[in-house]
Order: sequence, then structure tokens, then C-alpha cells
Amino acid sequence: MKQEKKTEGELLSEKLLSDHKHAGLLLSSEEISKADVFCEDYKKYLDEAKTEREAVIKTVTLAEAAGFKPFVRGKKYKAGDKFYYNNRGKAIILGVMGKESLESGVRLAAAHIDSPRMDLKQNPLYEEQDFALFKTHYYGGIKKYQWAAIPLSLHGVVIKSNGESITVNIGEDENDPVFCVTDLLPHLAQQQMKRTPAELIKGEELNILVGSMPFKDDKVSNKIKLNIMSILNEKYGIIEDDFMSAELEAVPQFKAKDIGFDRSMIGAYGQDDSSCAYTALKAILEVNKPKHTCLTCLTDKEETGSDGNTGLNSSYLAYFIDDLASAYGLKGHNVISASECLSADVNSAVDPTFQDVTEKRNASKLNYGVVATKFTGARGKSGTSDASAEFVGRIRRLFDENGVIWQTGELGKVDLGGGGTVAQFIANLDMDVIDVGVPVLCMHAPFEVTSKIDIYMAYKAFAVFFAD
Ligand code: MN
Ligand code: MN
Repeated sequence: MKQEKKTEGELLSEKLLSDHKHAGLLLSSEEISKADVFCEDYKKYLDEAKTEREAVIKTVTLAEAAGFKPFVRGKKYKAGDKFYYNNRGKAIILGVMGKESLESGVRLAAAHIDSPRMDLKQNPLYEEQDFALFKTHYYGGIKKYQWAAIPLSLHGVVIKSNGESITVNIGEDENDPVFCVTDLLPHLAQQQMKRTPAELIKGEELNILVGSMPFKDDKVSNKIKLNIMSILNEKYGIIEDDFMSAELEAVPQFKAKDIGFDRSMIGAYGQDDSSCAYTALKAILEVNKPKHTCLTCLTDKEETGSDGNTGLNSSYLAYFIDDLASAYGLKGHNVISASECLSADVNSAVDPTFQDVTEKRNASKLNYGVVATKFTGARGKSGTSDASAEFVGRIRRLFDENGVIWQTGELGKVDLGGGGTVAQFIANLDMDVIDVGVPVLCMHAPFEVTSKIDIYMAYKAFAVFFAD
């Protein structure tokens, strides 16, 4: 067939105008299958690492299998040496020593491993109307009504009065019981439905159902509560006061699943930010003798504003880099100032049903690749580090030259809302930072949606950053 000659306008438009395509049209079927295979292990990770503590445990297992050893302060590491620093079992930094001196800075990827959920209060167990329930305080920004009437599992630790630590994980095994927050039937919800959606289920109504059978003894009151305590005592050796020194987190019980007839997407709890934590982790596990020293920091407390000694608004990352630098007689802050960071966090993608919250020229889309977000924040860019044009240009070249399919993004229309990531805290240390992560639908819902190709592109983005 004779090829029609392109018009001047067509040629000019190809040359000058931006034309982003669905990654499914850009990638070969082999590359798409690579993404599918990659995501099989990702789904396992999602099921095994639903909380920050579980993510650290899983990370240590994978890291040790890949030759990483606990970090030794003061040790002069050689190029290719692999180490990890476990911060209180809730945050972790993995490192691979580079061939160049630390004076040229590190390549850091920072993701968070905490996700929105319901935490048990310190005096959680009570009895009401012949039911035993747990009081909770939700963690992170949630639409509370989404968390009622779904199966929940319980994860965390209980520290007994003698200091012994008991690990709890109930609801994930097929044979385990699960828990739930009750909600009203529509028939009797006329008053409830008049509440504003923010209060459809109120914070103090996020009470978790944990039992309904009495302890058989007419002499005691609170028989249902006593029966639950008796079961917990038998299984874990704990008493009611032990809840005071516990961190127990209720999360959606369901497993990660493929979404769609074409299986192109993944639905799961905690993809904000497991999608970036897992990909940044995989990328560093595969690093070998890099030019620059590479670090992946998997942090806690992002969803509550990054405060606390396991969050990135604390000094633990800077202290760690200082420890690393001191062994060579260098100053930590000089290493930090010369470093570059990809703040690995998700961005909100255009939702086909709720398109009007996004400005479509600038919002990210599922299947258009990993998202590089120059700034986040809200109301006149408040609460953002806003990556410099120079650093965006540098990352743009890096991705384009290495076949990373990527797009830009923003967190919703101007003045409609907004949000932040850990980027600002790292930038405040005097490091160049840009947000790079996976576009997500239903962010902060019990079931979040991502695309397999985007997950794979995030992994590729971190890998080329480390290799550069
Ligand atoms: Mn996040
Ligand atoms: Mn979040």
C-alpha cells in the first residue's frame, strides 16, 4: 500500500507537540509479560507486609537473602558492600556502597510502609449488649464509612509487663476468624443518612466486633468480655492491662487480587505506599557495585505527618548518613547536600467516574507509566518542597534515556484539596528531591487500585536511578 506523504502540519505537530500514549501501546508483549511476572511477587509482598512492622520483617528477610548485613557504625564499607539499619522495627534503611567517594552524595529512594488503618486504643476491650468490642482511633486520612462492614484482620505487638513481646497476626490465615465494624441496615438508617459523609460513621463508631459468647459463671459480670480475655490469655498469655503497652492495628483482611478481565490492574490494601516501597526495595536488592552509594529508606509515620522517631521528620536518616560519612572522616551534611532523592510515593490518578476533581492536562493516569510530581501541597503550594526545574530536567533525561515510561502528575485541581509526602522533609535537609511513584485509584480506601505496567515502571525508575 502506498504510504501517504505526511503534511507539513503533521510533521510539525510530531516534532513540537507532546504526545503521551498508553503504555500498553508503547511496550512489546514481552515487556508487558515482564510486568505481569514482576507483579506476582508484588502481590505476595502486599499480603505479607500489611503493616510497617511486617514490612520491616519481610524486608530484612529479603535483604539478608540478597547479602545485606546489619549496619555497623564506624565501619569503612567497600564498594559493593550491602548493609541495612533497622530503626525500632518500624522503619529501615538499606544501603549498597558505591565506587565513588561519599563526597559525591548518595542516591536515595524513600518510600513509606505505614498505611491508613484503625489502631486499637490503649484500653480497647469492652462489652455492650452481649457483644465484646474494641475501641479504635483511626490512623491516617480515611473516609471512615469505607471501613465498616468489611472483614478486618488484626496485626501488631503486645509488650507484657515482664517486657516480653508478643506478635499478633489474626485473620490472614484461611482458617483464622476475622473482625468487623458494624453498620446500620438501610431500613433504619434514615437519620444516619442525613449526616454529612464525614460523619456517616463517626470516629467513635469505628468499634470492632470481637466476640459474643459468655464465660459460663453466674457469679461474674461482663461475661462476654471475660470470655474474650480468657481466650486471649490462653493464646498469648496476656491480661487486659497488657493492651496499654500494645500496638494493634486493624487492616482489611482481603488479599491482593488482579482486577479486570484483562488482569491489567491490582486491587489491594496498602498500595499507598507498598507499591513504591516494594519497587524501591526490589531495585536496591539488585544493585551491585554502583557508582554512587545507593540507599532505600522505608519509613513509618508518613500517613500521620512524618513526626515521631520512625518518621522522616525525625533525624534518623540524617544521623544514619552522618554515621556512614564519619567512617571516612567526612561530614554527614556535606554528603547530604551532594545527594539526590526520589521520594517514592503514590499519586492520585484520573478516576473515570469522578473526573471533575482532576485537571486532566496535569493529572496522572493509570497505565501511562510512573509519575514524576514536581510539587504537591495545597492552597498555593503550601507544604511542598517543589523540585527545581534543573532536578526535574535531570530526572527527565535519566528516564527518557533508559526507557522508563513516565508522566507528570499533580494531586487534584488547584484549591480542591491536596496533600504531601516525605519529599519536603528530605528537601529540608538540603537534598535535591522529586516525588516519583505509582498512580493509584481509590487511594486510602481499604482496596486501592494500581496498574501492573505502572508498578513495573516504578521499579525500573528506581533501578536506573541507582545505576546512574
Ligand atoms: Mn503515600
Ligand atoms: Mn497516603
